[in-house]
Amino acid sequence: MFRIKDHIRDIKDFPKKDIIYKDITPLLQNPKATRDALKEFLRHLGDQKIEKVVGIESRGFFFATLLAQELNAGFIPIRKPGKLPFKTFRESYSLEYGEDILEIHCDAIKKGEKVLIHDDVLATGGTAAAACKLVEKMGGEIVQCNFLMDLDFLKGREKLSAYKVVSLVTY
Ligand code: AMP
Repeated sequence: MFRIKDHIRDIKDFPKKDIIYKDITPLLQNPKATRDALKEFLRHLGDQKIEKVVGIESRGFFFATLLAQELNAGFIPIRKPGKLPFKTFRESYSLEYGEDILEIHCDAIKKGEKVLIHDDVLATGGTAAAACKLVEKMGGEIVQCNFLMDLDFLKGREKLSAYKVVSLVTY
């Protein structure tokens, strides 16, 4: 049986003290585990129509591109400020200390398009909620937000209560 947790490595105190970083590189270096995780995401989506898969910088990009290919959808990157070369829309969101900004290309989503949001980890939910806002401001319709894992104690699902949230494993 495929157990995704067997392929996720905990790194204590990275990038700073008291954080347990969830490292997905063991999963990514294993083609069978990567394929199994991809199949799980597709199973959860069923036959729902998806036109754009939005991946959140940077670890959201890996499975978002794989999913986009499988779903015959376009892949859209959401990135930190100053990284995207064309005209962008931006959304700021608060972090524990201070705030951060996400950007998307202004021609990335068309009104009424069905969108899947993807990232590796759902923690407090601030990042994914900001990504959803950006997509909705452009007229996109969010079908689902999916994650490899969620950190339940950080209550990210509460920030995403307006959306269907799928996470392959919970910590
Ligand atoms: P949040 O906005 O708090 O839900 O944080 C989600 C973003 O931060 C995602 O893009 C994750 O890649 C990253 N992240 C948050 N916590 C962790 C963690 N413990 N391990 C790895 N990545 C994390």
